[in-house]
Amino acid sequence: MTNESNIDVPLAHGVPPCGDLLVALSDYISGEAAAELCQQIEAHLAECENCRVIVDTVRRTVTLCREITPPAVPTEVRRRLYQVLDLNTYLVE
Ligand SMILES: [Zn+2]
Repeated sequence: MTNESNIDVPLAHGVPPCGDLLVALSDYISGEAAAELCQQIEAHLAECENCRVIVDTVRRTVTLCREITPPAVPTEVRRRLYQVLDLNTYLVE
């Protein structure tokens, strides 16, 4: 019996493991991550197919959500909502 395990495969220097990438994912996709972090993430993505799939899926989801136009709230509904919330002074028609 050996103690060999392929779970703790050492990664290249400076390359974050999958968990670290997922924590920084939203900053990376929104373009708010620091340049150094982006480089580390891209180095990880070059080696990790699973994370490439995750990043690609999240990117597509974000794009689709941005393209959706929210339905307009009917004037009467908006008027009643503002009334209930006591915000009539802010009601713009
Ligand atoms: Zn990964």
